[in-house]
Amino acid sequence: RAKALGRNRYEFFTQNLQAEVVSHKRTADELLAAIENREFVTWYQPQFCAITHQLIGAEALVRWDHPYKGIQTPDAFLKIADELNVTSTIDQFVLETVLKDQMRWAAMGVHVPKISVNVSSKRLHDEKLIETLKTLQISPGQISFELVESIFLDESEDLVTDNLERIKALGIDVEIDDFGTGHTSIVSLLKLKPKRLKIDRQLVMPILISPQERALVRSIIEIARSLGVETVAEGVETMQHAAMLKDLGCDLLQGYAFARPLAFPDFTASARHGFLKVA
Ligand code: C2E
Ligand code: MG
Ligand code: MG
Ligand code: MG
Repeated sequence: RAKALGRNRYEFFTQNLQAEVVSHKRTADELLAAIENREFVTWYQPQFCAITHQLIGAEALVRWDHPYKGIQTPDAFLKIADELNVTSTIDQFVLETVLKDQMRWAAMGVHVPKISVNVSSKRLHDEKLIETLKTLQISPGQISFELVESIFLDESEDLVTDNLERIKALGIDVEIDDFGTGHTSIVSLLKLKPKRLKIDRQLVMPILISPQERALVRSIIEIARSLGVETVAEGVETMQHAAMLKDLGCDLLQGYAFARPLAFPDFTASARHGFLKVA
């Protein structure tokens, strides 16, 4: 009996595994087609001054407008995109969309926010990245690049160091994304002098109930400030969080308390009214 059960379990396991392989393969095929068919869209989540609640900028977040599943968030496809080596292509598409959208805002007479785009590790390692960026004619202060901490571990690599310096020279700001979850050292903060540091929502969410996390966030903000680095809190889900973060000295706030990531028309409509109603 035990044996039969064991075999069933084994069959169950292989069936599951097979189903997973098939679904992974299907997503991979669909993703390659999605790139051909330009099925990606760029959404925007606004960022506000912690003191005045004025709109300061926004983060561009990619979405896959899947033909039969609808809008997909990055957790559904970025890992597979990375395996397929197409993340840089997606990042480039997002950047180009952002530049077009900024021109549309300008033409509509809407305040044009500075936009932060996420840049994958592979893209930062791309030898042709700088040449590609040069052709886009980005104005200083128009765009900022969010880089996850792990990229900064490769900082010893000449290519990454070179690319980072040349990105800054093009007038593009550099931000450290998801700070507090990886392994960025204070030393790398000193060396890299990013414009901004984004405190990860895992650290931000517990600040109302946990004195430890609150102290940690306060210290991060103080260190950043002493280095002349701006701080952005991610995952600000309530106005209580917003008030606490203001008291802790955080510069910018981003999160559901103010707005979710929004498609271009929704972002534009809210930007026209200054996003003020929520403040
Ligand atoms: P991230 O850069 O840390 O982006 C913030 C994520 O937190 C977004 O998820 C956003 O929707 C979510 N978020 C914002 N406010 C709140 C909040 O108050 N509460 C909670 N629970 N979540 C909040 P999203 O859009 O699913 O993006 C996930 C990750 O995918 C991003 O994390 C970023 O690492 C990556 N990503 C997004 N767009 C791109 C892209 O164009 N290129 C690359 N390479 N990566 C991207
Ligand atoms: Mg980000
Ligand atoms: Mg982040
Ligand atoms: Mg995060």
